[in-house]
Parts: sequence; structure tokens; C-alpha cells
Amino acid sequence: MSEERHQNLAIIGHVDHGKSTLVGRLLYETGSVPEHVIEQHKEEAEEKGKGGFEFAYVMDNLAEERERGVTIDIAHQEFSTDEYEFTIVDCPGHRDFVKNMITGASQADNAVLVCAADDGVQPQTREHVFLARTLGIDELIIGINKMDLVDYEEGRYREAVDEVTELLKQVQFNPDDAKFIPISAFEGDNVADDSDNTPWYDGPNLLEALNDLPAPSPPTDADLRLPIQDVYTISGIGTVPVGRVETGMLNTGDNVSFQPSDVSGEVKTIEMHHEEVPEAGPGDNVGFNVRGIGKDDIRRGDVCGPADDPPSVAETFQAQIVVMQHPSVITAGYTPVFHAHTAQVACTIESIDKKIDPSTGETAEEEPDFIQSGDAAVVTVRPQKPLSIEPSSEIEELGSFAIRDMGQTIAAGKVLSVQEP
Ligand code: GDP
Repeated sequence: MSEERHQNLAIIGHVDHGKSTLVGRLLYETGSVPEHVIEQHKEEAEEKGKGGFEFAYVMDNLAEERERGVTIDIAHQEFSTDEYEFTIVDCPGHRDFVKNMITGASQADNAVLVCAADDGVQPQTREHVFLARTLGIDELIIGINKMDLVDYEEGRYREAVDEVTELLKQVQFNPDDAKFIPISAFEGDNVADDSDNTPWYDGPNLLEALNDLPAPSPPTDADLRLPIQDVYTISGIGTVPVGRVETGMLNTGDNVSFQPSDVSGEVKTIEMHHEEVPEAGPGDNVGFNVRGIGKDDIRRGDVCGPADDPPSVAETFQAQIVVMQHPSVITAGYTPVFHAHTAQVACTIESIDKKIDPSTGETAEEEPDFIQSGDAAVVTVRPQKPLSIEPSSEIEELGSFAIRDMGQTIAAGKVLSVQEP
């Protein structure tokens, strides 16, 4: 397992509140803007007699390149603090944010919510905070941005903090897990250095707050869950399922079970980076060989776990979902494709049990006839083929899914409970 301390960070907030500018500022202040970009800006700035305006040039360039759809995007940019290497995962609004967030590679551990001091809580602020909570973001750092536009007035800062605190309470996000910082992404106040413009603020600057985030604990103590990506036959070895360990440990000699295929056997060898290893843990991509299991016994979408406590298989499951975008309405009987870990299974929304108010987290309506874009709801789902999935309260990594239809992610959700056959 890698010793590097790594965090996936989501930058969320209403459009135009300054997410891209903040990402540019973080990259710039941590020296993470690609060298060629900086060089180019230095030259341009000097030519135009504007040395010192490099940041503005960096932003222009990021924006320009984004418009052209090339090279630099704010998604998947990296920067480091003393403690962590951060990867910025797609921001909401980016096309496949929800799907990426759910299906693994870019699952965010923590998030920075950007809220402009001059605009306060707006619809997407609400939506993203609700989504962050639904998808299990642990801690939230809230940058009250554009403080320069409100003359760095403490009163305006407090107003914005109160609005956001109210929102957090509404979605039952513990305000103790939130840290507020007055910033200007554009001017750089309280991002990498403590600003003289906010003498009334004595908390950490943004980079310090990021550095102080608790380390995501790798779920090594949990039961093994290893969703299978592919199954190969390798001469001399035999059947080799491959996949990423999501939770727990895989050891040679373990008795493992594959669900829903419902076969089991003993782990003979484990291979990682073309080397044989005795064990593998969360985050490790492995190929392994199991005594007595043939290529046709297991398939992509199976989950491997301990034989004496095998992965759950759902006859039905209850889930909380958020509808991101759907051209019409969703009613009971709707059967889109659910993407959960490596499985893709058509599932019928058998009943819509209740609608939840995304801005309060409370029940808005029992058994509504339909739900539509922007709605959050608790639904009962029946997979059309056996599906291994877990309650997110028990195994978070195996408890969320995206719902896709017509080539789009239309909803995201997490599993509340699983009814096994
Ligand atoms: P996004 O849609 O959330 O990514 O917002 P952008 O980063 O694109 O910013 C929207 C606009 O607000 C741009 O014109 C930025 O220059 C401006 N902006 C962002 N941060 C600040 C800030 O701290 N102060 C001021 N004055 N303008 C800002």
C-alpha cells in the first residue's frame, strides 16, 4: 500500500461564486501550475509591463484552455500541503460529477464549499450541500469568498456564515464538522497567507485548514469487499479475477466467496504490479487466483468477500436518491440501469416511499405519485438480476450507486437497507 497521504477533494458551490478561481489560486499558491504555463505568463506579463499579475494570467489561461477544451481542466488537478497530496475531483456541474463520485476513482473524502459573501446561499449551494451529505462527505470547509467585494466587512461575513450554518442544520450536517474562512480567491486573502484585510478573523487560512483535515482512514478493519472488474484465464495459473480492494484485507489462504454468482474457494496467489504479494488492502488493484474456480463461474459485477460472511445479495433494497436530471417524471415501475461498484444491472423502482425536502432533509410527502429533477426521495428498488450491494451505513464503499438512462446520470443514491432473498 502506498505510504503517501492522499485526499480527494471536491470543490462545490453555486455557479459564479468562484470555484474555478479558487482552484486556480490553490494551484498557483502551492506551485502546482504546470511550469510551461507559469513561464508563458511571466513572459506575457513582462511584455505588457504587468509583472506581478501572473495570477490573473494563470486564470485567463485556465479559462481559455477550458473553453478550447484542451489540456488544463480544473478537474483532476493536484496540489500538496505538508500533510497531504490533494486531488481535486470533478466539481458538480461537470458532466459526470455524480457518476464519478459514486463509482470510485474520484470519490471525494472532503469538500470545500465556495459561497460568495455578496450573494449568500443560492439554489446550487443547497443542492451541492445536500448531495455532499448524501454521498458521505466527511468534513466541509466553507470559503466565504469575494470578501474584497464587501470591503472585508465582518458583518457581511457573519451574515453569510449564518445562512450557510442554517443550511447545514437543515440537511443535518453537523456544523462541528464545518470550518468557515473569509477568503478572496481573486486577491488571495486567507488562502495561503493570513490576510491583513481581515484582522477580526483569527482562524486558520484555507491551506492550513486543508492541512488540518483528519486523514481518511483506510477501511482495513472492515470485512473484505472486492468488486470484480474482469476475469482472465492465464496459462499456467488458471482463472484470474481482477479488481480493486474496496474494504478489508485479502490474504493468500483465505476462503472467499463471490456473490451473486455464489461460488467459493481458497485464495492461492495474489498479484499486484506484476509481483506476487501475500496480502492486499484498500485501494490495491489486484489479480488473484482461487482454487477450483473456473472462468465461467464468476463475472464482472460479482463482489468477493469472506466465505463465512459473504457479500449481501439484494432481492430488494431501500435507498435514498437525489434526482439530478430527468426529462419528465419518475414513477413506480421505472426500470433504468443502476451502476454500483463494477455492476450494471437494470433495476425497477418498485415504490416511491416518500419525498424528502432537499433543503430540510425532512419528509415532504408520503408515497408521492412521482418525483422529478431536483427531488430527493426514499425508494424501494428490485434488481432485475441478482445484485450484490450493501447498506451504506455498514459498508459505505459498497453502498452507493448512480442511476443512468438515455446516456446520462439521472440520479444518485445510497442504500439504506438490503432485503436478502
Ligand atoms: P465558478 O463558476 O464558481 O467556477 O466561478 P468562477 O471562478 O468562474 O468565478 C466567477 C466570477 O467571479 C469570475 O469573474 C471571477 O473572476 C470572479 N471571482 C471569483 N472569485 C473572486 C473573488 O474572490 N473576488 C472577486 N472580486 N471576484 C471573484
